[in-house]
Amino acid sequence: MNLIFLGPPGAGKGTVADLAKDVLGIPHISSGQLFREQIKIGSPLGKRVEATLKAGNLVDDETTIEFVRERLSRDDVARGYILDGFPRTIAQAEAMCVFSKPEAVINFSLTEEEILRRLEGRRVAPTTGRTYHILYNPPKVEGLDDETGETLIQRPDDKKEAILNRLEVYTRETRPLINHYREKNLLVPLDASPSPQEVLNQLLHLLKEKGIH
Ligand code: AMP
Repeated sequence: MNLIFLGPPGAGKGTVADLAKDVLGIPHISSGQLFREQIKIGSPLGKRVEATLKAGNLVDDETTIEFVRERLSRDDVARGYILDGFPRTIAQAEAMCVFSKPEAVINFSLTEEEILRRLEGRRVAPTTGRTYHILYNPPKVEGLDDETGETLIQRPDDKKEAILNRLEVYTRETRPLINHYREKNLLVPLDASPSPQEVLNQLLHLLKEKGIH
């Protein structure tokens, strides 16, 4: 089952993907998390993209496409994947259809006001990328990851200026993908405003309706 999670930053794609991957038995692949891992280990790629991520701009298409293409060629995606954060431009979507075909594109929708609230309160565990929200989804112990106990951080691109830039980039570069996938009959609209568990239930219901799960 090949799924794409599309939607603005802060819509809960990563949180719901983390829940859905266990139910569906397919890996959650986040292009943003892949880049953050490269930055963390200090690889040449990580060094090259660090400032871009921090500012909330997009990494160039060529680098991103090649990186995701390689990730999707590994054995663990034989039964499918949840792709979160890719494609983010029309050029990426067009390149992707050559190496992998999505079966459904889930479009997470949320008001801009709620997006800002979610992003500003978001905290992440740097090693796993597991996300929390200081009000809506707090960890069991304040500031620490539930499973590893590592200290949670605020992503540099979750600071106010970067958030506003990311929303602009989303509107300009990524929103056109909604029509792109609607025309291909792959778009599945999803109301991202309820709790992660409710959004997951909604998603599973929609997949069943479409005969995908
Ligand atoms: P995310 O975790 O999905 O919010 O992604 C964090 C950052 O990684 C983005 O703001 C971009 O700088 C970069 N990134 C992730 N996915 C892509 C993509 N498909 N194309 C270009 N840049 C990306």
